[in-house]
Amino acid sequence: AKRRGRGQVVRFTPGMREADRQRAQLESDLQSAVERDEFRLHFQPIVNPETLSIFGYEALLRWTHPMRGPVSPAEFIPLAEASGAIGPIGEWVLKDACLKASAWPSDLYVAVNVSALQLRSARFPALVARILAETGLPPQRLTIELTETAIVANHDEVAAILNAVRALGVRVAMDDFGTGFSSLSHLRRLPVDVIKIDRSFVTSAEIDRNSMAVLKGIAQMGRDMEIAIVGEGVETPAQRDILRRIGCDGAQGYLFGKPTPFVLPTTPMLARAV
Ligand code: C2E
Ligand code: CA
Ligand code: CA
Ligand code: CA
Repeated sequence: AKRRGRGQVVRFTPGMREADRQRAQLESDLQSAVERDEFRLHFQPIVNPETLSIFGYEALLRWTHPMRGPVSPAEFIPLAEASGAIGPIGEWVLKDACLKASAWPSDLYVAVNVSALQLRSARFPALVARILAETGLPPQRLTIELTETAIVANHDEVAAILNAVRALGVRVAMDDFGTGFSSLSHLRRLPVDVIKIDRSFVTSAEIDRNSMAVLKGIAQMGRDMEIAIVGEGVETPAQRDILRRIGCDGAQGYLFGKPTPFVLPTTPMLARAV
């Protein structure tokens, strides 16, 4: 490698500024991305780990930036939250997901990710009610997924909004369960219908006895609390077997199907099995 000496310092600073500039540019581009029709939803199946029959699909947002091409939601969702653009973006997601799902077979549900910032607007339950009415999707076919790490402080406020949403007949799922600092206290205080176990537990259960014990514990807790359990990030048949053995209600992951722009009539795995 070349020794750069002082040059490195000089180069490093403009590089930092460039990263900041790009971030600011992305943030500003996000403001107009809905109007410019740059978003699309992809859908990933959630299946019964025993029979592989499909319960529904999770809607996952995709942004194709006019200059940069595809940008990951892991990158742009936090930017959209910081700038406030998450409001109109989240509304577009909910609307498009309900619209698409209203054309699916009537036994399939759609799960939509909702940012805590979006949820904590007092108008959120009314927004959900309006979109369900406009798209004609029965409330029972919509699940709202909430990331627990994003649920900060005010439990009472969040619980009131979740109760209003559930009163419509919509289900609430706690996403990425186990990754936050206070999963169990959230669970005790928030009304949820579904727990989605974070991929990290599913991935390590094969090789790590402690992860396996945690998975078993969550599954048992779900049964006792009458909360459905869905395991995320299933990539191998062995991981599927583990979820099946502990009595998981649902499973999701590349093994059953990757997120795609359209909905398949069956999972690729089931197509192979039958
Ligand atoms: P998430 O809600 O936990 O979604 C699951 C993520 O895991 C998705 O990444 C999905 O593509 C990926 N995944 C699914 N199966 C597998 C697997 O078997 N192996 C591996 N390695 N990954 C798998 P994606 O689509 O990049 O989304 C990342 C995160 O961005 C989501 O995590 C969610 O928190 C957020 N997000 C996505 N769409 C939306 C949205 O419409 N609104 C909001 N607020 N957040 C969203
Ligand atoms: Ca999710
Ligand atoms: Ca998740
Ligand atoms: Ca996640």
